Amino acid sequence: MSFTGNLKKWLDVAHYLGDQTETQALPYELRHSNRAKRLQIRVLPTGRVEVVVPRGCSEKRAHQFARERADWVAGALKKFAEKQQQRKVNTAFPETLTFPAIGEQWKITREPDNHPSQVSLRIEGDTLILSGATRDDELCISLLKRWLKYKGEDALIPWLDQVSDELNLPYNKASVRGQKTRWGSCSSKKNISLNYKLLFVSPEEVRYLFIHELSHTRHMNHSKAFWAQVEKHEPDYKRLDKSLNRATHERVPGWLHR
Ligand SMILES: [Zn+2]
Repeated sequence: MSFTGNLKKWLDVAHYLGDQTETQALPYELRHSNRAKRLQIRVLPTGRVEVVVPRGCSEKRAHQFARERADWVAGALKKFAEKQQQRKVNTAFPETLTFPAIGEQWKITREPDNHPSQVSLRIEGDTLILSGATRDDELCISLLKRWLKYKGEDALIPWLDQVSDELNLPYNKASVRGQKTRWGSCSSKKNISLNYKLLFVSPEEVRYLFIHELSHTRHMNHSKAFWAQVEKHEPDYKRLDKSLNRATHERVPGWLHR
């Protein structure tokens, strides 16, 4: 395994697992901790490997511990590198848009750049065609976000109405936005706001989110009574709540987080 770029910088201070040649060695750092109860080795979100050394444990023992886990570290670093690669692919400008929520797939094409500052979008069949300043990723992405908002309004609000009728939980107004951290919200005036990123999750997750927000029209909190109301309409709400939380990073495309 070899390291390049920013990892190089800390190779000097790092210790090595296994073979001492630069191409094969796995660098790691020792961190002394008063709180740690036992020796631990882990790959940090930055890709650095750290051995946590509890109070009273010798460095010699810590190095031995690290050597014993060289295989595990090599595997964890490989996974880390794969994830990084995947992240790069995910944040690239999209060539398709897949909406599991409504079972639609769209292609995206960009015409040759022919304008300094404006980009426009038209639809032909199942293809979104961007023209104008098409080399400007940021402009293209902000236009796609506007289209997602429109698409969200078109697909999600009538669906919310339907669930609202079915559950007999009326609301006041609905809007669609691209919130950074929330799938939806419900105000004390019973106005519901939905995230267009819901298009990227499953229909049952969208339905759960609708039930969740509509239940807030009765209970403006997350009390026991609120969850009982949710459970009445969706017995599997715990699983769906969890998977929806994970979906932000697992299924919403990376370019939407840019
Ligand atoms: Zn809530």
